[in-house]
Amino acid sequence: MKIHEYQAKNLLSSYGIPVEQHILCQNADEALLAYEELNMKKVMIKAQVQAGGRGKAGGIKLAKSADDVMNYASSILQMTIKGLPVTKILVSEAINIESEFYLSFSIDRKNRSVIMMLSSEGGVEIEEVAKYTPENIYRVNIDPFVGLPSYIARRIAFFLFDDMDLVNQMVQILQKMYQLFIDQDASLIEVNPLVLTEERNLIAVDAKMTFDDCALYRQEDICFFSEPTEEEEMELQAKAKGFNYVHLTGDIGCMVNGAGLAMATMDMIKLYEGSPANFLDIGGSSNPKKITEAMKMLLQDDRLKVILVNIFGGITRCDDVANGLLKAYELLHADIPVVVRLTGTNEEEGRALLRTSSFIVAETMKEAIKIAVNQSIKAG
Ligand code: GDP
Ligand code: MN
Repeated sequence: MKIHEYQAKNLLSSYGIPVEQHILCQNADEALLAYEELNMKKVMIKAQVQAGGRGKAGGIKLAKSADDVMNYASSILQMTIKGLPVTKILVSEAINIESEFYLSFSIDRKNRSVIMMLSSEGGVEIEEVAKYTPENIYRVNIDPFVGLPSYIARRIAFFLFDDMDLVNQMVQILQKMYQLFIDQDASLIEVNPLVLTEERNLIAVDAKMTFDDCALYRQEDICFFSEPTEEEEMELQAKAKGFNYVHLTGDIGCMVNGAGLAMATMDMIKLYEGSPANFLDIGGSSNPKKITEAMKMLLQDDRLKVILVNIFGGITRCDDVANGLLKAYELLHADIPVVVRLTGTNEEEGRALLRTSSFIVAETMKEAIKIAVNQSIKAG
């Protein structure tokens, strides 16, 4: 799970890591009030979207007057950055930057530990630094049993600074950030840039954090930050109903039993040059309620041109599935074609039940997928 910059900064701050003063706003009037409240000549107006590169996209501006604040706030609030509409902005104290650094903690799966990365080339994309000047990134794997005691934190801090005052500030930041990472089951904390101000203080000017979804059950405070996108919302709904659902970008809605068959279905759709809109594994049950629910979910998605139902009847009986589909159809009246392929236990009975309906019945997977792809192209 990702969180916004302002949320990450509040977390950093609660661990004693310095961040600049900031106020979250939803419109230009609030921004103006925030400007007055901060009572500073210069402030930054920053788009709050869960994407990097906001500066490059024009979502970060330096405002030097009340007029600037109004103008930038309203223009940024109309922006869409990397497909994400900006609905909130941060009005924050403008920092006098002397230099920018990169600092992150993330999981190094290969070494089964947390890895700290630090670079003197902050403010730019770290991928670029990694590609062209990898020697400028200092990496330290942190032994989970040792953690980050001050002797290690100091060694890291000396990579950037000689000045003992800055080394001490850096040690504090490193230790607190590692503690935050561990306590909150984070999977990434990235501060880019960590800034040395002209007043010789270290401050986190940007912050990106993600958390391990599998640990959210024990992180109530973090769950509170959740702001799922429309797609994530759908995935959560599906999960609550016991489905395995992944949102994809195509136009063929899929309903399949079993993850393996679902993968094979995706592959075959691609093979015939179609594009799946989702991965949906409805699991082993042929309970008509479950099939209706799955159908409902798919029909909510207005990108779909066709629905492909691909069922392998093992314990699941194909005639049960067919009955479920008929019930779902009665309730929902799908306005797009539904192609059904049933195979396995009671497949003849299942197909016979569907033949009198408006479902398109196919015998083999290949046939069903070819029909579905053709339908999606036709509706194109
Ligand atoms: P990103 O583009 O999404 O990574 O957003 P950042 O918050 O990292 O801002 C991008 C860049 O804007 C930073 O690297 C800084 O160079 C600049 N910037 C951000 N905040 C300030 C500030 O308070 N003062 C000054 N002078 N520059 C800032
Ligand atoms: Mn940044």
